[in-house]
Amino acid sequence: MERMKQEKAVVVFSGGQDSTTCLFWAKKQFGEVEVLTFNYGQRHKQEIECARAIAAEQGVNHTILDMSLLNQLAPNALTRDDVAIEQKEGELPSTFVDGRNLLFLSFAAVYAKQAGARHLVTGVCETDFSGYPDCRDIFVKSLNVTLNLSMDYSFVIHTPLMWLNKAETWKLADELGAFDYVREKTLTCYNGIIGDGCGECPACKLRKAGLVSYLAERQEANA
Ligand SMILES: [Zn+2]
Repeated sequence: MERMKQEKAVVVFSGGQDSTTCLFWAKKQFGEVEVLTFNYGQRHKQEIECARAIAAEQGVNHTILDMSLLNQLAPNALTRDDVAIEQKEGELPSTFVDGRNLLFLSFAAVYAKQAGARHLVTGVCETDFSGYPDCRDIFVKSLNVTLNLSMDYSFVIHTPLMWLNKAETWKLADELGAFDYVREKTLTCYNGIIGDGCGECPACKLRKAGLVSYLAERQEANA
């Protein structure tokens, strides 16, 4: 672990709760941290602006990669106003884009190598598994091997949230001294409202459920 202190990491960064928690985690682990945001025509330009503001406040180098081709491949509810956010019983939610995480991590690796970083940090998580096959631990481990072979380089993909539920992700932010920051400055809401959000959309409901559960647990621990 001592060696990591001298090394550089690139965090895949959206400005949301998960990736911001990962940023704070990475700042503790590594000597130097950069963040990388993918612009794929998100519904809300606020998402990019939010990521930009957090990176500036945290004093980390921020690169925004144009991934608008994703929208060309797979028009979906995250990028198109005319596609509603919904999830039918037994199906993937309409926010799903096949291979999105595969593409993001692969682009991040190409970027990281030329930036002199072998560590990649991503907030993917298998616990609240919503059916995204390329967010599974087995996929990340498999891609890590493939990336190392493809570029003859020793990447290490870190997934600090992989086995955490939403309440545990809040707990991690708290342990990193970033609870209030993550709560107030990050954007998870599909309606583009920073912090606690609109409270109505699926992303807000999920975030709030985790928060309520963590706050109850914290109160109990302090009682
Ligand atoms: Zn919302």
